[in-house]
Amino acid sequence: MTQLVCGVCARPCRAAFRAPQPEIAPDLDMRPGEPARSTLRNWIQVCPSCGAAAPALADLPASAEPVVKSDEYRLLSTTALEETVPFRRWALICERLGDRAQQAEALLQAAWAADDAAAMTEAAALRGAAVALWADTVDIETGLRRLDAMRRAGMFAAAEAWADELTAREPDELARAIIGFQRARIAGRDIGRHLIGSALPPPARAPHVSHGKRATTGFWSRLFRK
Ligand SMILES: [Zn+2]
Repeated sequence: MTQLVCGVCARPCRAAFRAPQPEIAPDLDMRPGEPARSTLRNWIQVCPSCGAAAPALADLPASAEPVVKSDEYRLLSTTALEETVPFRRWALICERLGDRAQQAEALLQAAWAADDAAAMTEAAALRGAAVALWADTVDIETGLRRLDAMRRAGMFAAAEAWADELTAREPDELARAIIGFQRARIAGRDIGRHLIGSALPPPARAPHVSHGKRATTGFWSRLFRK
């Protein structure tokens, strides 16, 4: 077997962490349920030699090296909450490599790390950054996650407007149920975490939902996968 090495400094590194399959439903922003949920801190590997941060150090391209060596990258450890630093560093690498989708994902994960540290202001700022990166999304899953991020960041007026925009796209029944649930939370100025299951209609009223027959996209199939 070939020894895995860090893509930036070529020192040996471990294989990427693989989170256990969630057994509990995800949050509305698709943060997975337990037991995957509490493994968040393991999702980003940090190279002890060069300081590179990524889900898989071995997959980093050599072009990440200037980012890892930049002042901005290093100074994150002095300006940001410690628990969020690996995710922010990975987000910065994604940004400089031009991967906005992965950058938004990393920033949302940083927000989850801030949630776990009860750092509400930092969590809201990180969600705001992900919301901005998702501004022009046409994907319904991403649109729904953006709606949740807006609400949880306390961006209520923007969240209401975004809920209107998503509704105008005539999404399917499940998405409409989630948007309706979010609208009620927004009206109540609720910035709390909610499980996706609490937004869905009871199975008795929508049997096809519990059977996953409408699970046509990656979003819904992940949701209902057993
Ligand atoms: Zn390295």
